Parts: sequence; C-alpha cells; structure tokens
Amino acid sequence: MPGKGLVIVNTGNGKGKTTAALGLMFRAWGHGMKVVMLQFIKSSKRKCGEYKAAEKIGIEIVPGGAGFVFDVDDTSAHQALAVKQWGLAKERISSGGYDMVVLDEITYALKFGWIGMEDLIDVLKKRPPALHVILTGRDAPQELVDFADTVMEVTDIKHHFREGIKQQPGIEF
Ligand code: ATP
Ligand code: MG
Repeated sequence: MPGKGLVIVNTGNGKGKTTAALGLMFRAWGHGMKVVMLQFIKSSKRKCGEYKAAEKIGIEIVPGGAGFVFDVDDTSAHQALAVKQWGLAKERISSGGYDMVVLDEITYALKFGWIGMEDLIDVLKKRPPALHVILTGRDAPQELVDFADTVMEVTDIKHHFREGIKQQPGIEF
C-alpha cells in the first residue's frame, strides 16, 4: 500500500540541507522508487559529485540554475531559469510518475518572488497523495513552514570556510 506523501523542508544556515535531501533520494531509490532532483541554483556548467554519482547509477538530477545569484547584478537570467525550472517541477509533480521530487534551493526563487507562494502551495496540495516533496534552501518562508509536515533547520555552529579553508570536492561539491 502506498504511504502518505510528505512535504519536507530542509532549511537553516548550516551545512547539510542538500546532502540530506540526496540521502533521502538515495534511500527511496534503494526501494525502487522513482526519484528526481530539480536544482534551482546550481548550473549545469560545473558538474558536482552528486550529479556524477547520480548519472552513474541512473538517478535523475536536473540542473536548472545559473550559479549563485549574488555573482551578478542583473538577476533576469536567473529569474527566467527559475521560472522554467518551476514549470518542469510542476509537470513532474503532477505527472503521477514519481514517488519523490526534490526541489533543491527553491527557497531563493520564492524569496525573490520568482515563484509565487500561492502557486507552490496549490501545486503541493494537488499533488498525488503518495508523492514526497523535499524542498531545500535557507530562509524557508513561514507559509511553507506552516504547510510542511516536517521542517529541519540546520544550525551553523562552526564552518571551516571561516577558518579560511576553501571549498573542495566531496565536501562542497
Ligand atoms: P550541502 O550541499 O553541503 O548539503 P547546504 O545545501 O546545506 O550544503 P547551501 O546553503 O546550499 O548548503 O550552501 C551551498 C554551499 O555553501 C555549500 O558548498 C556549503 O558547503 C556552503 N555552506 C553551507 N553552510 C555554510 C555556512 N554555514 N557557512 C559557509 N558556507 C556554508
Ligand atoms: Mg544546498
């Protein structure tokens, strides 16, 4: 019997939001469930480890961003990509073909108003009842927190970046 689909939010300033979502995907995939991650910030230009691993084992990750937003002044390109990715996300969510859909770093698109909060909640409400949706990113809006079944806040107690240790494969990407 299919389980109850959950809405899970991984937020907070600490490290581990995306990787926790990947862990859930991996777990679900192990049961033969159909999973997909749609990335809202990460660009397809730099292939991160999770993308390479997913490709090897046949888990679908769709990069759909243009890199971190604070890199540029003009956000219109980011907005267009986010809107496009949200269109794809809606298709996947309502298709009935998935057991778990991960919307990675979607909170930034919500924060900038590129995706409407009402639209998101509406899509989540109308999703297939057994579908799990995981949403990640800092500053999850209150409306999303109120709607979700489970909300994780990762607290930043210490981070090696502040000690001047640069990003490295296997840890940051
Ligand atoms: P991860 O992808 O490792 O699970 P995350 O999804 O929780 O991290 P994001 O907020 O998406 O983290 O941040 C993306 C990048 O910023 C990652 O490379 C991560 O290592 C780094 N980062 C995360 N938390 C912090 C922090 N508290 N201080 C500085 N950099 C951070
Ligand atoms: Mg992340």
